[in-house]
Amino acid sequence: MTAPLIGITSFEDRSRQPAPYVSLKNSYVRAVEAAGGIPVVLPVADKRQARLLIPRLDGILFSGGNDVAPWLFGQEPLPGMGSWDTLRDEWEIELCNRAWDARLPMLGICRGCQLMNVARGGTLIQDIAQSNPKAMLHNPTIPHDELCHHIEIEKGSMLSTLFGQGALLVNSLHHQAVGEPAEDFTVTARSQDGIVEALEAKDGRFALALQFHPEGLFLRYPAFLAPFKALVDAASRRAD
Ligand code: MN
Repeated sequence: MTAPLIGITSFEDRSRQPAPYVSLKNSYVRAVEAAGGIPVVLPVADKRQARLLIPRLDGILFSGGNDVAPWLFGQEPLPGMGSWDTLRDEWEIELCNRAWDARLPMLGICRGCQLMNVARGGTLIQDIAQSNPKAMLHNPTIPHDELCHHIEIEKGSMLSTLFGQGALLVNSLHHQAVGEPAEDFTVTARSQDGIVEALEAKDGRFALALQFHPEGLFLRYPAFLAPFKALVDAASRRAD
């Protein structure tokens, strides 16, 4: 089995002056490596490069980060919206759509989950607390490896083959969420307040989007390496 090349999106940290840095939480890299993939960090680039880059990869991971610009899913900014970076958004939307057309295995985490949904035509909830005062707290200030709330995993989903169906305790580090799911996706997990916590492709390809952060949990709870192993497995089947 070929060790597959897994592209991981990153962002440009412009707070690092005078010279901005390419930035990515290292736990994404470590999780792909632990799952047997070769991690390749992808800097934000001119979106015309996506067409050239996608055929060189075996799989892609859309990482966490800033909010997605509201006009990219047809909305005006509402109170509670955080900061966004249009260059990153447009680059990743192009990557996602090129990867989709190439049937490249893809995993999205947190912002990456939301980005995949927007790229394929879905919408986001700009701020969970503002849109639903009865929603529970999805962004407590606790470490990334702390479990936070339950999700309910749909029977028969790909996610249920990774974690089992029914209740699963996950971490939670988000103030936005998927609103209207894109036509290509089906919701396969929600929290008790109805927030979408996982999407997967309706057509059975490997396209999995998670609102929680398995990369923050897998060192303490090894079961959370499963989504990375599934991505690497799908990518290496494609590479062979
Ligand atoms: Mn959550």
